[in-house]
Amino acid sequence: MTALLPDLSFLPNFDSIEEERLHRKQRLAASFRLFGKFGFDEGVAGHITVRDPEHLDRFWVNPFGMNFKHIRVSDLICVDHTGTVVEGNALVNGAAFAIHSQVHAARPDVIAAAHSHSLHGKAWSSLGRKLDPITQDACAFFEDHGLFDDFTGVVLDLDEGKRIGASLADNKAVILRNHGLLTVGHSVDAAVWSFITMERSCQAQLLAEAAGTPVIIPDEMARKTYKQVGSPIACYYSFQPLWDMITREQPDLFE
Ligand SMILES: [Zn+2]
Repeated sequence: MTALLPDLSFLPNFDSIEEERLHRKQRLAASFRLFGKFGFDEGVAGHITVRDPEHLDRFWVNPFGMNFKHIRVSDLICVDHTGTVVEGNALVNGAAFAIHSQVHAARPDVIAAAHSHSLHGKAWSSLGRKLDPITQDACAFFEDHGLFDDFTGVVLDLDEGKRIGASLADNKAVILRNHGLLTVGHSVDAAVWSFITMERSCQAQLLAEAAGTPVIIPDEMARKTYKQVGSPIACYYSFQPLWDMITREQPDLFE
């Protein structure tokens, strides 16, 4: 079910596994600061994960119960495929393990996954519909997101995580009905950018449908625009201004 790997030659190269691991952890810590800044936190809900570059069945994730706005590189924890915390001194959120372990297992091409209970994402998710290509930005998700058309309470069961992975299929995102959004990428940068822009696309469609009947971009034009704004390289580069901003504003995230 894995998609053919797109051209990822634009991603940075590393001389060692340690260097690559640190890079991924820094991007992850910065992403939590961005989620905090955008108000994507809701109590202890929400998680972003990045696969370890050496142990491919392990991922790095936020410590349970810590505010996104406070997370530093040294706070991140590493979890193995059994849910055991193998690095760091904190618990892992049960839902983070149930969902992300299965998404990472189903999609070996994916490096990172992001999920939170952001306001417009969860409001849109209650409609049980996919996003329509009503704006240039929303075309990033045209024919590239799934819908998990079910809700069975807090996801703590690995089988439920597997079903979410199946609904994600080869796409970059999935709407979890009555719950929120989940995005993936071949870099932390792309997964997190996709989450941010998907949340805003949900907001845009909610606003547009509250005001009237939005004009839908025709399929052929949406497909063309998708290649311009929805590709791995476009998602990666769209993240860079946010990285520049958050690292200049909050350099303690590197600690
Ligand atoms: Zn959730």
